[in-house]
Amino acid sequence: MSALLGATLISLAGTAQAQNYPSKPITMIVPFAAGGPTDALARVIAQKMSEKLGQQIVVDNAAGAGGTIGVAKAARAAPDGHTVLFTHMGTLAVNIALYKSLPYDSQKDLVPVGIGGTNPMVLVTKKTLPVKDFKEFAAYVKANQKKVQYGMAGIGAASHLGGLMLNSMMKVEVLEIPYKGTGPALNDLVAGQFDYMVDQAVNVLAQIQSGNIKAIGVSTKKRLPQLPDVPTIDEAGLPGYEVTIWNGLFAPKGTPEAIVTKLNAVLGEALADEAVRKRLIDLAVDLPTKEESSPQALGALLKASIEKWVPAVKAAGVQPE
Ligand code: ASP
Repeated sequence: MSALLGATLISLAGTAQAQNYPSKPITMIVPFAAGGPTDALARVIAQKMSEKLGQQIVVDNAAGAGGTIGVAKAARAAPDGHTVLFTHMGTLAVNIALYKSLPYDSQKDLVPVGIGGTNPMVLVTKKTLPVKDFKEFAAYVKANQKKVQYGMAGIGAASHLGGLMLNSMMKVEVLEIPYKGTGPALNDLVAGQFDYMVDQAVNVLAQIQSGNIKAIGVSTKKRLPQLPDVPTIDEAGLPGYEVTIWNGLFAPKGTPEAIVTKLNAVLGEALADEAVRKRLIDLAVDLPTKEESSPQALGALLKASIEKWVPAVKAAGVQPE
C-alpha cells in the first residue's frame, strides 16, 4: 500500500470514528487531587461539555509526583477521544526544568485541544502567621528559615513554580511540604499546619474571603477585582514577580483530527455558556478570546511557556530531581 493511500485510509477511518463520537463515557484525567484548582476548573468545564456531547465525562484524579503520573497516564491512553487530559502549564512546561527525566514529551505525546483559561495566583498564609503585609512576611520568612514551611502540589506544580520563584527572589530557603494537590494542602493551611503557599485564585478566594487564611499578595501585575485591598507581590516588594497559570485540554497523540476539532468546538461552547462564564470570571479566570481558542493557539502557548519558564526556573537555581 502506498504511503498516500495509507494516510488517506487512516484519515477516512478517523472521520468515521468522529461521526459516532463519543460512543461511550469520556474519562477526563486531572493530574491533581479532587477539590483543588485544576479539579475545580475541570469539573465546571466537563459538566457543560458532557451536556453538549450527550455523554458522561468522568473525572479521574490521577494525582501524584507533581502531576506527572496523570499526564503520563493520559499520554499512554488509547487515542480515540474517550480519554482526555485537563492540566496546567506546570506539568507540561515548567517541570521540564525540574526533572532529570520525564515519562512523556509534552509536545510530542499529546495533542492540544484548547485553552481552558488562565488564573492568577495568590500568596496566602495561615491565619496565625504574625505578619500583616508583604514586608513583614518577607522579614519573618528570612528570619525564620529553619522553621518556616511552605506547601505545594509536588515538583513542577503551579504552586511549586509560584513558591520557588517567590523564595528565590526573596533569597530564602525553606522547607517545602508536598501534597497531591493544593485542595488537600489548603485544608492543612486553614488548619495552620504549615505557613504559606502560592496557589491559584480559584482555590483560595473563598477561604480568604471567609477569613480562614490571609492574602499577602497577588502574582499578577495588576490587583484582582476580587481582592482590591491585596497588593501585587511586584508592587509590595518583589519587582518583576509575575506568575499566571494557564489550563488546557489535551488528548493522547494520534487522536483523530476530526475528534480534536469536535472536542475543541464543544470546549468553546462550554466556555461561552453564560453560567459557566460567570462562575469562572468570579473565580478570577481569564477566558480565552476567539483567536486564543484554537488547538494551534494552545500548542503555541505550550511552546512559548517552555521557552519562558525552563530558563527562568533554571536561573532560579533549582536543581532537577
Ligand atoms: N494546580 C495545583 C498546583 O499545581 C494543584 C492542584 O490542582 O491541586 O499547585
